[in-house]
Amino acid sequence: VTRSLSPSKLLQRMVAFPSVSGHEGDLVEWIASYLRRVGLSPTISGRNLYVILRGEDGPTLLFNTHLDVVHPGVGWSSDPFVPVVKDGMLYARGANDAKGCGAAMITAVIALARERRAGTLILALTCDEETGGEGLEKLICDLPAFDSAVIGEPTFNRPSLGMRGLVSALLLSRGRGCHASRPHEGINPIYGLAQDVLAVRDFIPEPVDPLLGKGTLAVTVFSAGEMSARNRVPGVAEAIVDLRTTLVWDNNRALDDLRSLVKQSEIIVRSQRIKPKATSPDSLVARAAFAAAKTDLAYEFRGASDFAHVAVPGVILGPGNTTSHQPDEHVPLKMVSRAADIYADVARAYFDLASTSHLS
Ligand SMILES: [Zn+2]
Repeated sequence: VTRSLSPSKLLQRMVAFPSVSGHEGDLVEWIASYLRRVGLSPTISGRNLYVILRGEDGPTLLFNTHLDVVHPGVGWSSDPFVPVVKDGMLYARGANDAKGCGAAMITAVIALARERRAGTLILALTCDEETGGEGLEKLICDLPAFDSAVIGEPTFNRPSLGMRGLVSALLLSRGRGCHASRPHEGINPIYGLAQDVLAVRDFIPEPVDPLLGKGTLAVTVFSAGEMSARNRVPGVAEAIVDLRTTLVWDNNRALDDLRSLVKQSEIIVRSQRIKPKATSPDSLVARAAFAAAKTDLAYEFRGASDFAHVAVPGVILGPGNTTSHQPDEHVPLKMVSRAADIYADVARAYFDLASTSHLS
């Protein structure tokens, strides 16, 4: 058994693997061999890895985060897969989303493995979070049943009680093409679409969710006509509306509102698979997370996460900021070290609360 790495050193090793979704295999192998060197028994399943620390009795808690990263894209000041430390920040693709969480969870699990635990802990490090596919949604079938979950995503080390859902809808405005010099002979689909888009802009979703905040709508794509046919009125115009939903403005209600707003275009729903999800602040895992993070203030996590695949109470919690998916993504290394302690404390507090609430 070798000495374990500090969370900061571990993270620097992890970000050097260019584990863009679909290419997590080498990183999974490296982490598995590291975990074996420090005395744990990881199992590899596809491009996922998990470790089970069995307790004698008590509930089961899942720690999960993802090992895949988005493509680095352009605009980086240095190689995105060569870690650079400057002023206490680590710069690299994945440093923030979500390998800082991964390094902190691994460190916490190594510490917890050396303690007596009043419950079972599962660590699952998974692939394909950014794309959907063969990550947690598939691995969950291999794992023992669990009672609560901690999902690692960057939340400034403040617990988040949930995530908004997502509906993606195409607005299709049909007109009739004609020569631009005789517009009255056709029907210009751009004008109808433009009216629908402005109605979307002016709409304020209500009510505001006490746990998940406001629902939002955003037009993200608007297209019609072609630069090579500038003297023609086009036959169709299209836009994409991205709707982020909450428990009180859920996917169905958001679609009903969109249908009443949009007067000229046909609505084609492209995706409504991701449902909003939230955990009660009174749940054991939420109480444990707030106690461990030493804060009362929930974080409003705005992105999607693998929490969507989990059917039990959970929190989203991890080191990091809002530089995910950007060039020069970075994470404060101190926050990562702190997260390792927080995660270990969440497990300890969770098992403690579970055993005392059994007695009462
Ligand atoms: Zn993420």
